[in-house]
Amino acid sequence: MIARRLDGAAWATLIRTELVPRVAAFTATQGRPPGLGVILAGRRPESEIYVRNKLKAVSEAGCRADLVRIDEDATLQEALDTVARLNADDGIDGILVQSPLPAAMGKGAEQRVFDAVDAAKDVDGFHPENVGRLSQKRQTLVACTPLGCIELLEREGIQIAGRHAVVIGRSDIVGKPMAMLLLNRDATVTVCHSRTPNLAQMAATADILIAAVGRPGLITRDFVKPGATVIDVGINVLTTAEQVEHLCAEGSAKRRAFAEKGSVLIGDVHPNVAEVAGALTPVPGGVGPLTIAMVLRNTITAAELRCGVLR
Ligand code: NDP
Repeated sequence: MIARRLDGAAWATLIRTELVPRVAAFTATQGRPPGLGVILAGRRPESEIYVRNKLKAVSEAGCRADLVRIDEDATLQEALDTVARLNADDGIDGILVQSPLPAAMGKGAEQRVFDAVDAAKDVDGFHPENVGRLSQKRQTLVACTPLGCIELLEREGIQIAGRHAVVIGRSDIVGKPMAMLLLNRDATVTVCHSRTPNLAQMAATADILIAAVGRPGLITRDFVKPGATVIDVGINVLTTAEQVEHLCAEGSAKRRAFAEKGSVLIGDVHPNVAEVAGALTPVPGGVGPLTIAMVLRNTITAAELRCGVLR
């Protein structure tokens, strides 16, 4: 079997187009567009790319998109002050703090900064109030990556209710909200992590397998029930020929990409999973673009909720 490719990039393009009229309607009735403020500390190249993509998607749909930079050596207090300024700005409906914050801000800094974001503007869905609302299946802002995975499953017509979903990874950003979203849609959910024994056996019971680990190619074909749907959230950069030769078949597009650029992106799912899975997301071009589309959707939702357009 060669798994059906779940084209997240194509869905993301469609979703972004579908959202444009919502932005236009909001702008017409409120006299201003929905606004997103993104706080970026330092100049990490990957963060620069993620932030650029988010701002581009939001501004292309007609929203206001502000980049607020703080220095690599900024203090925690400076980060908190920046959040407070955006909280107080009435033209800003969504606030996003790009992770990771510089290590020099100290342990626990990220949590404190995320907590400081006004829950009504928390387009990342990390605020404890929004996490609590998600767990109670109430209207709220939900973390963009798991939201994008659900959107993909639903748009691809993959049944969730009554199926067994296994989520590998239990982070606050992906694994836990993913599990909650699946549970809220009536899947039977198992959450696995680094201390789960017999991980492959557990994963192989899944109808829907979500890999959100950050270990290149960890999920090999023996983790996958034939015909299962596999969503690969992982984004890993391979930079050595040894890694690429270990994970990617001779003559494959990944090997060619590595030969050209000296690095290549790979998910948590091993390429050989395509031989057993029923459907599979590519990396890149799977979950990543949907995450960006959900940043846009959450910005609009936050704006509509704040202005009473949505209740
Ligand atoms: P974290 O590092 O926060 O969490 C990783 C999780 O994987 C943890 O729960 C950890 O377990 C678990 N884990 C680690 N090693 C193993 C193992 N060998 N077996 C089983 N479980 C393991 O990562 P994130 O959740 O933030 O991100 C996960 C991946 O998704 C990364 O590659 C990241 O780059 C990518 N990502 C992609 C996004 C996208 O838009 N496509 C957005 C966000 C993330 P434990 O809790 O026990 O430590």
